[in-house]
Amino acid sequence: MNAGTQDPDATHETLVIGGGIVGLSVSWFLAEAGMGVLCLDAGRDSGSATNAGSLHGQMQSRMERLFPERIEDYRHTLPIYPRAIDYWAEIAGRLGEDIEFAITGGLMIAESAGQMAALERKSRIEGEHGVHTRPMGREELLSIAPCLNSGVHGALFCEKEGKINPLLAAGAVRRQAEAAGAVLRNGTAQRLQPGGVGYLVATDRATYRAERVVIAAGTGSGRLAATVGLRLPCTAEPLQMSITEPAEPLMHHLIQHAARAITMKQLANGQVLIGGGWPAARPRDRLPPAVLSESLAGNLRLARHLVPAIGGLQVQRTWAGVNTLVDLVSVLGPVESLPGLYFAVPGDAGFTLGPYCARLVADAILGRSPDYPLDRFSIARFRKS
Ligand SMILES: Cc1cc2nc3c(=O)[nH]c(=O)nc-3n(C[C@H](O)[C@H](O)[C@H](O)COP(=O)(O)OP(=O)(O)OC[C@H]3O[C@@H](n4cnc5c(N)ncnc54)[C@H](O)[C@@H]3O)c2cc1C
Repeated sequence: MNAGTQDPDATHETLVIGGGIVGLSVSWFLAEAGMGVLCLDAGRDSGSATNAGSLHGQMQSRMERLFPERIEDYRHTLPIYPRAIDYWAEIAGRLGEDIEFAITGGLMIAESAGQMAALERKSRIEGEHGVHTRPMGREELLSIAPCLNSGVHGALFCEKEGKINPLLAAGAVRRQAEAAGAVLRNGTAQRLQPGGVGYLVATDRATYRAERVVIAAGTGSGRLAATVGLRLPCTAEPLQMSITEPAEPLMHHLIQHAARAITMKQLANGQVLIGGGWPAARPRDRLPPAVLSESLAGNLRLARHLVPAIGGLQVQRTWAGVNTLVDLVSVLGPVESLPGLYFAVPGDAGFTLGPYCARLVADAILGRSPDYPLDRFSIARFRKS
């Protein structure tokens, strides 16, 4: 294990594995508090570099389709979504750069009475868990979103939702982390080993010693957890998105659907971003994911159906990225059996949740009491299954 050790005498105070929005935010918050931080990133499969930048406040309809058996536990974590959006608002103000943060409100569209009834039920549950959503009839809906197909039935409105430009945001957070003193390096962590005070972390380039380690490696987190005997089932979900040419102002809100996979929103420059969970292909784990033409056609067909004016726009680019799915519930905080080891892995909608999750973990490390209890997010829950 010592072979290749980089400066064997150097013990980093904290080593953060993963330089996506979560790892960069943890690094920023810890370095800002005066801690020595080294953040390592493998440079692959970053959801933070490929995502749509939707700020999700309400329960996405895809959650029930993906993990029906987990919805009950997931509901209890809903309060972190509005908190996470409030926290984005706070840090957007501190970044000193425009990241196109905007709270526009979000509409989840129903196209039938049955879908509307399901949205009303969802709204009641959300209300019990601190997420404010309001059912809206067809007339009101078309008055605030005239771009929609006139056949829509109604919607669930969440005032809190909005958008961010993820590339601007990740770059701005990275600069804050570096300005606060965090050191960012390329490298792929391969295994962890408890050793002396803290951990030895073997990478493809060197071995590092650190008093504490934060695993914020998105889809890579499960593999790293396994090297210290922990179970963290996380799935790499290849997804794809498209962006149109710029258009005149067309839609103001984040648009989703009650039963079908879609998110749509218009960016500050007029381009319309279309996604919402359409699968991309990934024949081999080591390759980047590739766009699927069936998904592209299906995603655009649904977008045009909901907002007919989209049919007149050219698609400029379609790309694929890797989303990290846990079991809908984030994995955050210390590992009781391994002092000095922490996880920071959002359950889903990880761009929305990223900085807030990072702050909860940083608070736990800094001995500050996190403002949301971490017990529900412990990795210990996987021991039972
Ligand atoms: C197409 C798409 C659209 C999405 N749209 C949205 C959206 O609109 N809103 C939303 O909230 N979320 C969205 N998401 C989800 C969101 O992007 C992710 O949940 C979020 O970026 C997770 O951030 P992260 O920092 O935890 O992980 P990531 O951004 O995935 O970063 C993990 C990093 O860890 C590094 N890493 C992995 N293994 C190792 C290792 N062994 N050693 C060192 N480094 C390692 C990787 O290089 C990577 O950079 C979308 C995802 C995709 C793919």
